[in-house]
Amino acid sequence: MTLTREINQVRPVAAAERVGRVHYAIRDIAVLAEQLARQGKPIISLNIGDPVAFDFTTPPHLVEAVIKAMRDGKNGYAPSLGVEEALEAVRADAERQGIRNIQTAFTTYGVSEAADLCLTGLMNPGENVLTPSPDYPLYSAILAKLDAEAVPYRLDETCGWEPDLDGMAASITPKTRALVVINPNNPTGAVHSRKTIEGIIELARRHRLVIISDEIYDRLILDGTPHTTLAALAPDLPVVTLKGLSKNYVMPGWRVGWVIVSGPGDVLGDYTEALHRMVRARLSGNNPMQYAIRPALEGPQDHLAVFIQKLRARRDLTVELCRQTPRLSCVAPRAAFYAFPKIDIPEGDEEFVRQLLIEKQVLVVHGSGFGPLGAPGHFRIVYLAPEEMLRRAYKAIADFMQEHYA
Ligand code: PLP
Repeated sequence: MTLTREINQVRPVAAAERVGRVHYAIRDIAVLAEQLARQGKPIISLNIGDPVAFDFTTPPHLVEAVIKAMRDGKNGYAPSLGVEEALEAVRADAERQGIRNIQTAFTTYGVSEAADLCLTGLMNPGENVLTPSPDYPLYSAILAKLDAEAVPYRLDETCGWEPDLDGMAASITPKTRALVVINPNNPTGAVHSRKTIEGIIELARRHRLVIISDEIYDRLILDGTPHTTLAALAPDLPVVTLKGLSKNYVMPGWRVGWVIVSGPGDVLGDYTEALHRMVRARLSGNNPMQYAIRPALEGPQDHLAVFIQKLRARRDLTVELCRQTPRLSCVAPRAAFYAFPKIDIPEGDEEFVRQLLIEKQVLVVHGSGFGPLGAPGHFRIVYLAPEEMLRRAYKAIADFMQEHYA
């Protein structure tokens, strides 16, 4: 009797409300693709920026470094801030890029954890952060978890996806604590000019904002456009630079990233201590994987030339085929491995992406999954795939356009 009553009282487990605001379109759309794949339909997956899923491999000397670390017994917890040789390499690399006034550097479980720690250490509920739109959805997902707000600023497609600085300034409120810059950019493939970066720095200086600069793609510049290390131009400001090995060194599964906090020591003490406290509370990053950091940053870079050469050819193909396809147009990406074509159709882009997947088994991500401003009417395509696969995908997209919108 008692047991029956207790069972009757069991209620559905309600999820935390804030999780309802966490969205990650890049993987959410893949759920439908998995269902189709289970029905035996082969999917051309161009939704996730993972070079290892295509014909790119992790440089062998980095694999050897990690295997050696494991054989040498580096299998316990690492120091919370990171293993010493990795931190030395990270600091030296930052200094080579002109970053001065480094207050702390620590390694993390990918740039994803780096972003999480940096925002968690900064934000109170109700405060906000300016984030690019279209954006990489990691930032708004973390802010949703923190009961803080992501206030989008527009990347302007008509100006090569450069940030709209006036719009950015107009969005700042007394609750704004920081602004996020993703350069090189995901999802647009833009590389922001030095002038734009200087404009952003000036805005942060005027409004006393922390800058969070995600530079995870800084070595994947396709046309030699110089990449500007933001913190190097702002030694007087609190800047959090996020970097990692996932993309540049072809190992997203290893989960290796790091944070460099730079700026005046007298204003950063409290924040730096908060970051250290959180880093200690999560014990340790991946120990053996951190032994890839020094050889990556200081060893041979041969893989980069091959990587960039292949990416350039695939980018060129993407741009050419987008331009040939009715109702598609595309700003040529200048870095990383994403293009963000515009689609001129009456439906929303989420419906377009769903139908394209169902009818042609090509998986891309709808632009509106990357934030509210300016993105509707776009999709993100990952052009890491070999040219033959890309040609098949673009042919399928062209057929789809023909069948629906001729
Ligand atoms: N930042 C940007 C701009 C990204 O595109 C990604 C992954 O796609 C990440 C961060 C996450 O990096 P990681 O795999 O190191 O967590």
